[in-house]
Amino acid sequence: SLTEKLGNALRNLRGVGKLTEENMAEALKEVRTALLSADVHFKVVREFVDRVQEKCVGQEVLKGVSPGQQIVKIINDELVRLLGEGTTDLSGARPLKILMVGLHGSGKTTSTAKLGKLLKKRGYRPFVAACDIYRPAAIDQLEILAKQEELGFYADRASKDVPAIGTAALAAAKEATADAILFDTAGRLQIDHDLIEEVKKLRERIQPDEVFLVADGALGQEAVNVAKAFNDALQLTGLILTKMDGDARGGAALSIKTITGVPIKFVGTGEKTADFDTFYPDRLASRILGMGDVVSLVERAQENIDQKEAEKMAEKLRKADFNLEDFLAQMQQIKKMGSMQSIIGMMPGMSGMQLPEGADKQMARTEAIIKSMTIQERRKPELLNGSRRKRIADGSGVKIVEVNQLMKQFTQMQQMMKMFKGSGAKKMMRQMEA
Ligand code: GDP
Ligand code: MG
Repeated sequence: SLTEKLGNALRNLRGVGKLTEENMAEALKEVRTALLSADVHFKVVREFVDRVQEKCVGQEVLKGVSPGQQIVKIINDELVRLLGEGTTDLSGARPLKILMVGLHGSGKTTSTAKLGKLLKKRGYRPFVAACDIYRPAAIDQLEILAKQEELGFYADRASKDVPAIGTAALAAAKEATADAILFDTAGRLQIDHDLIEEVKKLRERIQPDEVFLVADGALGQEAVNVAKAFNDALQLTGLILTKMDGDARGGAALSIKTITGVPIKFVGTGEKTADFDTFYPDRLASRILGMGDVVSLVERAQENIDQKEAEKMAEKLRKADFNLEDFLAQMQQIKKMGSMQSIIGMMPGMSGMQLPEGADKQMARTEAIIKSMTIQERRKPELLNGSRRKRIADGSGVKIVEVNQLMKQFTQMQQMMKMFKGSGAKKMMRQMEA
């Protein structure tokens, strides 16, 4: 309906002024909830939100977006910066030695094969070494994957001496003229002191150029302890975030990055060896926030909304002298941002909402009706008597009832705005903004 459309228009105008602790509170609460439900560690959430708040207070709110939307954009930018900080490509060492560590089931063996495949594409001659001696099936699993991807492979099924296996694997790789050697290790369901000691010894022996923690993207609050324990013992150089093809929001990555500073390198997106991507901070940030595509909405607003025009409009709204001419201008601003459906789709929590069939068409009809009015009529809608309405209906190709409907809704809207004026206005505006 028109009221809804005007509501949207108003929403685009509501963020006039500066960001304050008061007008940010609601949005920050939403972000806090989003981060927590993405399984980001609560301490990391608190720290992050505090930092963002400090950054935001006193900033001018862009015309054309709400403070909430602007905050989400600032938060997103901060998140992208934090997640992407220090992300470099792989070490350039040749031979390149990579040690893969992590909890049981996190995806170490799979990721070893995936990374081997990726290195092969980059022109390396990769070689994988099975250092998980606790489960024969794990060795078989790596061997099958190595065969499938045509990677060099080493295992010693009889040995229980992991560092010795490492040394032997290095020799075998050298023999095979491999120039990238990946060491797959064992994991436990929880951090296990003995196991970490074993990997530590392997690390000392093989002197890897990279030590990658493989972590399940769905890892919850415990991600922090896991990452700390592995980092303290093994000086991690990177993180591989796995199972991001599921619904995990990947908050673990933010926890791990914040606590250890270890950069995120790759993302696993499926069970197949090809399901492996270089890490893109912006993709993960919007996934962790789960805020629809508010960020691009704000960007579009920045590009398309005429800031001065929006300011003038806001002033009119405050004075409650909003007429049909203003309404037309406002609709055109919205149109510049894209279709109503695409704008709705970018609002947090509304992405699933379907506008009634033909909402954009309806908006076009409303526009046509207003365009058939004279400037006088647009400025003074009370001029619109029966014969004028008939002329407008004919001119815009609609039925007279549609013109009547538009006028009725517009009058309601005007009355609402008059109510905002005066003492209760600020409070009501604030309610509308919430
Ligand atoms: P490991 O115990 O750390 O060596 O873990 P595995 O490599 O054996 O993986 C455990 C399970 O997770 C296997 O069933 C894998 O197929 C699966 N897996 C690993 N990475 C991914 C991923 O990125 N996406 C999905 N969907 N499954 C994965
Ligand atoms: Mg394994």
